[in-house]
Amino acid sequence: MARSLAEEEEKTQEVTASSDPRISGGEMPSVRLQNVTKRFGDVVAVDDMSVDIARGEFFTMLGPSGCGKTTTLRMVAGFEEPTAGAILVDGRHMEGVPAFRRPTNTVFQSYALFPHLSVEENVAFGLRRKGVDKKEVTRRVGEELELVGLAGERKRKPRQLSGGQQQRVALARALVNRPAVLLLDEPLGALDLKLRKGLQVELKRIQREVGITFVYVTHDQEEALTMSDRIAVMNRGIVEQVDQPEAVYDRPRTTFVAGFIGVSNLMPGAVQSANGHDAEVRLDSGVTVTAPTDGLRSGERVHAVVRPEKLQLDPAETPSVDDRPNVEGLLESSLYLGTATQVVVRLPDGVSMTVLVPNTDEEARRRLPGAGAQVRLSWASEHMHVVREEGTPVHANGAMDGDGAALPDAIPTPAEPALTEEGK
Ligand code: ATP
Repeated sequence: MARSLAEEEEKTQEVTASSDPRISGGEMPSVRLQNVTKRFGDVVAVDDMSVDIARGEFFTMLGPSGCGKTTTLRMVAGFEEPTAGAILVDGRHMEGVPAFRRPTNTVFQSYALFPHLSVEENVAFGLRRKGVDKKEVTRRVGEELELVGLAGERKRKPRQLSGGQQQRVALARALVNRPAVLLLDEPLGALDLKLRKGLQVELKRIQREVGITFVYVTHDQEEALTMSDRIAVMNRGIVEQVDQPEAVYDRPRTTFVAGFIGVSNLMPGAVQSANGHDAEVRLDSGVTVTAPTDGLRSGERVHAVVRPEKLQLDPAETPSVDDRPNVEGLLESSLYLGTATQVVVRLPDGVSMTVLVPNTDEEARRRLPGAGAQVRLSWASEHMHVVREEGTPVHANGAMDGDGAALPDAIPTPAEPALTEEGK
């Protein structure tokens, strides 16, 4: 139900500054999700989510298909209302504020351009509907097309553009209104890998230039790591970790995050003793390692996580160096990848470990043990991270539950929701 302006103003209330230490100086967050839950019948799509997104931040929601990313984005956009909790944009409560009155704009996976309009007419559409002065429209549209690198294509129709170019037009159209927050739902999902990589870099540049808060949804972990200031890793409606890309990669908090981001080596084991600082962990492969406790208790089941590029591979007869943790195993396979060789080693407890050996030295690469060899894997303690074992499924190598396609009702047709948004 739409509110009157006065009612909305009233809701611009006494919002407290962010307590999130990553949001500097207690500044008002650009977007605040406060205990947001969304249920569809029995399905809990989003479960008690709380997060503050800073102004000008590139914030990504990452997770497998069905984890609640799109639903969260749609609630911020105003296409769905939360079942419980509150959403604030620039300190203003969004409850009851329709999508077209929110200071947000959305870029979807489908470009949803008007086929009969030229590139510049597509971008100008919303401004014209708002009755913006003709000269001003020309100036702003020109600026946006420059920004997205399409100034030379302004007279073309969408069908005369590549997929990547069409998505740039959609981006220019969403940015021309200078929304406080741009919401992007898998915007590169329909593009081929090479184009996607190029546009990732472009998107990041554009976001830096315009300084608008970007809230980005993807199931592609590499995309999230490349572009984001912070990433929220979601699983079954729950945010498992919100952190900078390096932290999510190097210091995953849960088994799910460790398994979802990058190729992970998860060695199961149990905490034998913990003293408040460190825990002794007996891995199922028979090796005992020491790790920071992080609240671990004696008897708890855990996983020791070591990334493939942090493992050193040597023939088993090579003596171990210093007190580095190490374990012996059987080299199962070796795959030449160009820049590196990927080796799979099976440990005594049956766990497979992936090792990435950089191909910096051709001679050293030739000396690598072959399949069937007994080898020793070792790593520096600081490159090992111990996380609690959980009931959540681990999606090794970022494997998806589904194809990650957006729900059909999340995609506007050129004739409808896109118009609502453009009509601001
Ligand atoms: P994807 O990457 O596939 O788009 P997602 O992480 O964005 O997935 P959501 O689309 O937010 O996930 O869906 C979260 C859960 O809510 C899923 O179980 C989905 O089936 C359910 N869901 C989403 N929208 C609706 C709806 N309109 N009615 C019923 N259930 C829904």
